[in-house]
Amino acid sequence: MPDGAVMRNAEESRYKYLGVLEVDGIKHDQMKDQVKKEYTRRVRNILKSKLNGGNIISAINSRAVSVVRYGAGIIKWTKNELEEMDRKTRKLMTMYGAQHPKADVDRLYLKRYDGGRDLLGVEDCVQAEVNSLDKYLCASEENMLKEVNISSILENKKHGQSREDIQKRNLRKRVYGEDIDSSCRVCGAAEETVAHIVSECQKLAQKEYKEVRHDNVAKVIHWKLCEKWGFEKSDKWYTHKPEKVLESNECKILWDLPIQTDKTLEHNRPDITVIEKKSKKCLLIDPACPFDTRIERKEEEKCNNYCDLKYEIARMWRMKEVEVIPVFVGALGSVTKDFEKWIQKLDLGIAAEKLQKPCLLGTARIIRKVLDIK
Ligand SMILES: [Zn+2]
Repeated sequence: MPDGAVMRNAEESRYKYLGVLEVDGIKHDQMKDQVKKEYTRRVRNILKSKLNGGNIISAINSRAVSVVRYGAGIIKWTKNELEEMDRKTRKLMTMYGAQHPKADVDRLYLKRYDGGRDLLGVEDCVQAEVNSLDKYLCASEENMLKEVNISSILENKKHGQSREDIQKRNLRKRVYGEDIDSSCRVCGAAEETVAHIVSECQKLAQKEYKEVRHDNVAKVIHWKLCEKWGFEKSDKWYTHKPEKVLESNECKILWDLPIQTDKTLEHNRPDITVIEKKSKKCLLIDPACPFDTRIERKEEEKCNNYCDLKYEIARMWRMKEVEVIPVFVGALGSVTKDFEKWIQKLDLGIAAEKLQKPCLLGTARIIRKVLDIK
């Protein structure tokens, strides 16, 4: 994560994502129960306190309603459930003497300047939250969001839903024992799991994984390299078209070119090769976006794969130093604990999220595309 926090591997059968319980999808029922209980507990505690009427309402608004607000737009509440919570609030208020049994219900929720008591209804609050989430996503000025028009997928999928949809067939078969075809709707050769769709499907490998996602991550790096070494580049990374070879007095940059060696090597084609002429230093930069649980292992593998090439380059080009820089971003955005170290070696002043973003946007596109196939 950008703030340095390290996320645990989510291999356990259920885990919390931003405090929301998930298994294969969000545990809606369990979450609802927890939220309802916690909400009621807080309302009751506030009512038991010695606060005056106005302060009781402020406290419910800020301390209790916030519990429900947090999951709004994520947890799928029904209108009934929310109304029920509001009813219960009123009942408790009456029980504890904070609301007269015959008092007008509408007035309780009216704004103070309209003569009301300004209590936030749980139902209104959730609705307002869902609306503003929609608005935020539609109006986002975020360049890359606009560029790839990702807001449309987020808008109707919101959090977790697309993943849920992907796993639906798999889930229906495995968990509910339904007799349906849960194989990949693209290749039909494997189970349709999240990992398969976003990183393992052979039919998506060349175009979607490579050209849409991987190359974009590589492009960001190439684009920054052009800036560093004074080569021409476009304004935005996503309109950047890397040249196969760029060369100046100081530096030479190769894009996706095999390196000719005397010995035939299996791994001889790094995505980006940078030859710093003055310092006689060579960087072999190779981004990849495997499934998140595998990034660590793959990072190690990559360094080993290029061992021979490193040696050959040092010998042929008389380099003082040849360094392999694996840039591994999980298809769902995870990075390894060494990620920061690797990108510092690039010396491009790039922040981790600048590389996580193109990868995630690529994955979002892939998911959207696959979900369109019914
Ligand atoms: Zn497939």
